[in-house]
Amino acid sequence: MKYADIVHRCFRCGYCKFTSDYTDFNCPTYRKFRFETYSPGGRMWLIRAWLNGEIKNSDRFQEILFSCATCANCVEHCVFTFSEDLVNIFISAREEMVNDGIIPPPVRDYLKNININGNPYKEPASERGKWAEGTLVETYKDQEYLFYIGCVGSYDERGKKIARAVGNLLVKAGLSIGILGDKENCDGNEVRTLGEAGLFQFLAEKNIALFRDLGVKKIITLDPHAFNTFKKDYPALDGEFEVYHYTQILAPLIQSGKIPLKGLNDKITYHDPCYLGRHNGEYNAPRKILKAIPGIELVEMDRSRENAFCCGGGGGNFFTDILGGGEDSPSRIRVREALDTGAGIIAVACPQCAKMLDDAVKIEQLDDRLKVMDVAEIVTNCLL
Ligand code: SF4
Ligand code: SF4
Repeated sequence: MKYADIVHRCFRCGYCKFTSDYTDFNCPTYRKFRFETYSPGGRMWLIRAWLNGEIKNSDRFQEILFSCATCANCVEHCVFTFSEDLVNIFISAREEMVNDGIIPPPVRDYLKNININGNPYKEPASERGKWAEGTLVETYKDQEYLFYIGCVGSYDERGKKIARAVGNLLVKAGLSIGILGDKENCDGNEVRTLGEAGLFQFLAEKNIALFRDLGVKKIITLDPHAFNTFKKDYPALDGEFEVYHYTQILAPLIQSGKIPLKGLNDKITYHDPCYLGRHNGEYNAPRKILKAIPGIELVEMDRSRENAFCCGGGGGNFFTDILGGGEDSPSRIRVREALDTGAGIIAVACPQCAKMLDDAVKIEQLDDRLKVMDVAEIVTNCLL
């Protein structure tokens, strides 16, 4: 296994499962299960024991590895030099399991659906661009930016609403954007994090070839997960594009008054998506947008920015749900934390976070006190 030579360096000191001030458990799986084996250091020691032949691949070992939300809190907080590779190590171990063909059934189903349909929803490609019907968003020809949506924004009802909000705002701001519609395919970020390296490479190379054929130079993504893989993984496969998350494009447009807004009288807290925040260091753009709306009071949760607590959807868990629900599920903990700020709205900038937190608000029966809204939906409500 790649990284096999550094797995032994973990001391199991446990810093990686905390926030910077060590007051909260910030690894979502450790927080939920409270067994050391579900912490980053525990995973490191189990992987080491597995590589040494001391333990075998079992249902429990698979659950421990595939429940990791790849949130990168451990990358942020492990004090040793190998910390930047922690998530890569977990993904590499998953790759070994995928190669052996011994993986949890929901992971197998997810990968199978992507392989067969190009999306996890078992929907035909012809449905992909339907979200844009009734909007002014056009199909990509030679526009300045490709607006890439991803599977959740294309097929999930909640995601589609967010895609429409972002698309309409970008058009309203006068940006030259186009979508791929039925030509769009999965970006592969979750395929990669679930350990199917071969399928990821196939998807990435297919996307890169299509983008190149169409003359795409700049990409705006709806989803931080696509943003992450286009930015970090595609260049190694010869796919160099200028990649932006939509908040990075909207922030200067709103700050410069290109999208005139009326005021709102709301107290809002912002949830950092792991693949925009910790994985890519973008904490400011969404906050700049919210702060530019007159009348909004932006309040921070106890855990924010580098210390933000994951919603539990990353690393494929949004689709496989191996991390699972319950009172201590990350999304339910997160909405209770948001409630503590006194805010009435949790702003998000990721369709996966939106759906995870929406469901948690319902289960916690907080519908009348907390609303989950994408930053773009909040801006849309303020349009003059
Ligand atoms: S991953 Fe790093 S911080 Fe976590 S237990 Fe191992 S050495 Fe300590
Ligand atoms: S990536 Fe997140 S969920 Fe996975 S071990 Fe690290 S802190 Fe825990």
